Amino acid sequence: MNARSSLKYCRRCIMPETKPDLHIDAEGVCSACRAFEGRREVDWVARDKELRNIVERYRRGSAAYDCIVPVSGGKDSTYQTIRCLQLGLNPLCVTATTDKLSPIGRRNIENLKQLGVDYVEVTTNPVVRRRINKFALSKVGDISWPEHVAIFTIPVRIAVQMNVPLIIWGENSQNEYGGPAAAQQSTTLTRRWLEEFGGLLGLRVSDLVGQEGVEAKHLIQYTYPSDAELEAVGVTGLFLGYYIQWDGYQNALTAQAYGFETYHKCVEGSLVNYENLDNCQTGIHDYFKFLKYGFGRATDLACMNIRRGRLARADALEAVKKHDGKFPWIDLGVRREEILEEIDMGVDEFVRICDRFTNKKLFVCDSRGELIKDRHGNIAKMNYDNVAP
Ligand SMILES: [Zn+2]
Repeated sequence: MNARSSLKYCRRCIMPETKPDLHIDAEGVCSACRAFEGRREVDWVARDKELRNIVERYRRGSAAYDCIVPVSGGKDSTYQTIRCLQLGLNPLCVTATTDKLSPIGRRNIENLKQLGVDYVEVTTNPVVRRRINKFALSKVGDISWPEHVAIFTIPVRIAVQMNVPLIIWGENSQNEYGGPAAAQQSTTLTRRWLEEFGGLLGLRVSDLVGQEGVEAKHLIQYTYPSDAELEAVGVTGLFLGYYIQWDGYQNALTAQAYGFETYHKCVEGSLVNYENLDNCQTGIHDYFKFLKYGFGRATDLACMNIRRGRLARADALEAVKKHDGKFPWIDLGVRREEILEEIDMGVDEFVRICDRFTNKKLFVCDSRGELIKDRHGNIAKMNYDNVAP
């Protein structure tokens, strides 16, 4: 193998350099591992105090909700809701229904309500949604694009409608940022600020008009309130992950203690049974990440657990080889054909789209440059760990 073309991995975790916005330094350690190291320096007692101070500023008394909590019913949002109740807040929990909600996802939403909260769920037109799923899959290689837009826009729309300024989000990929509610100035959440977190992959909501019969009237829920509307309510937000030591596994343990249900086995393409349980299309979303960048959800989970000292790097590598990037025949027990049929797509067309979005430099190809696939349709990476120069 030509070492020049091989994929480089972090020496501490197993994340490849192809992850967007990841940097591997001169010592071979990635920026995510460095950021995690930085957590040791954080004064978590001070952060907790800071959180309580902000919450006091926004507490509103008996006749109003204190905050909006965007929830999916997953382990993290169950945990967010528990923490808000522990802080003595009166939250309004808001769900944007996922693209293809699973039965276990529905049961976990029902469980979340039973924590003792008011709850609103907004479901966008499912006929149009499936057309957007198909369009986004073929255009930007992301079937979950409408879901990722809606989980950001819908809670903000409800905040405006219900006149609730504070939105309490969970984790933020930029760990060092507490959210605008913490800033002394500019505490208003602007549309531009939110769009940075939306993950739109260069496809704007307005680009959908005229595609697959989508009209502007179908896109109301995918659209942020205007800046004037946001300002009138003073909509702002904070990320809990900045104020408390965020750990998905611990959140799952806490959520389980409050009735959260896990999957009966390891989720397909993952390493665990406690996350990504609510949308049967997530397996396709994660598979495309593997095709584009050479890592999937199993790698994400392996790295999080390596950093926390719960998994040895060598064991993680073996587990990832076994689970990451397998062709998604089944998702949360639902067959591929059924999921594709709903978006009016055959398996052959799906495979063609997969091949179109595959970064062939990362995968084993034959002498004609065609991807080599096993009998299950799986492709293999050029290298799964660093290759000696
Ligand atoms: Zn790393």
